[in-house]
Amino acid sequence: MWRNRGKVIPILVAGMLTFSLAACGSSGQAADPSGGGQAPEAAAASETGAPEAEAAAEEEAAPAEEADTAAEKNGEIYILFTSDVHCGVDQGFGYAGLEQVRDTLEEKGYETILVDDGDAIQGEPMGTFTNGEAIIEWMNAAGYDVAIPGNHEFDYGTDRFLELAGKAEFTYISCNFTYKDEPVFAPYVIKEAAGRKIGFVGVTTPTTIRSSTPAYFQDENGEYVYSFKQDDTGEELYQAVQEAADAARADGAEYVYLVAHLGNEEACRPWNYVDVVSHTSGIDVVLDGHSHDTDQVVLKNKNGEDVTRSAVGTKMSCIGYSHISAEGEIVETDIWSWPNSDPAPELLGIHNKMGDLVEEAQVQLGKKLDGVVASTEVALQNLFEKELPLVREINPHIISGPPSPINSAVNMEGGAGQYRENDTD
Ligand SMILES: [Zn+2]
Repeated sequence: MWRNRGKVIPILVAGMLTFSLAACGSSGQAADPSGGGQAPEAAAASETGAPEAEAAAEEEAAPAEEADTAAEKNGEIYILFTSDVHCGVDQGFGYAGLEQVRDTLEEKGYETILVDDGDAIQGEPMGTFTNGEAIIEWMNAAGYDVAIPGNHEFDYGTDRFLELAGKAEFTYISCNFTYKDEPVFAPYVIKEAAGRKIGFVGVTTPTTIRSSTPAYFQDENGEYVYSFKQDDTGEELYQAVQEAADAARADGAEYVYLVAHLGNEEACRPWNYVDVVSHTSGIDVVLDGHSHDTDQVVLKNKNGEDVTRSAVGTKMSCIGYSHISAEGEIVETDIWSWPNSDPAPELLGIHNKMGDLVEEAQVQLGKKLDGVVASTEVALQNLFEKELPLVREINPHIISGPPSPINSAVNMEGGAGQYRENDTD
């Protein structure tokens, strides 16, 4: 049975605590082992070299699994996308609902491609306890085809993220994430469905360089070795996106989808989705994340052509889709929404592979969280607004922090406690 909400809520709150100590500890250490970064060459080689092989492997795997229910193909394609899942795999549609949607479309004869726009692996205790690995495993099981790093993919350190990317059975892409000026991942990948070549270009908000932990992007001397093409004018970013889009077209892509973690925020200028679209051409659709909005927008590119930008909120409250007809037209790009607190799999009684995987993992996690997960001798205070207490009691064992500049949350039992930074965006 799907976990009932009465159990989920305390577990989630308790989990917030766990992150605290981890976040505290790592940011307090100047010499984080992730700061050095020798892994990128290996990651780049395996990622940039692998897309075609991975695509082929995935395309073989999916039909084999559904051989007995395979419908006659109708020549149409649904590109499905998620964003800012932040480990919320049992909320909203959940990964079980995502599997159900995808299976239903394929049973009706559509071919599907599944894409994630970043910020998948951080935001709940399951991410914290496994340094992101549980979510990568679930994404593998869900059959994701393409993903990009969001800013929060780096929260466990850049070396750790690259290690996780090596475990991913889907393709990470990014046109603007570089190590010593070389791309860490392939800037784009082409996936084939219904006999059509679809180009996906990845782009990660350059604000990552400062919103994550800067040391994660520096060498042992404090020099930046990683970059997100964050020059103040935005030109470096626009150029990287344009070159990747042009290369995808030259490689035969009939369509170019920008898989973006850019968002709509003024604070992210000159790199938000409006900035990028208005300075580039050749992109048909932007599948966007980062700002957790659900805005569906049509705007002009630098040549005055229409570009659709779609966003899906956070925590699986929406599944995005872009529908390509048998005639090859992008007929609709929009979202399905489940914006309420009752998870769809629970209310609809969906039981499938992803539901079972997620439920089992959450049960195991719940057992871990039954005990005190960490302790500190340090009195926890709100450094930004001293008049606000850092902690307030919400039940005899769990204490969480008030909304504050760092949105701290604390779980204390017998003097043990921890806090974490806000996990939004
Ligand atoms: Zn983000």
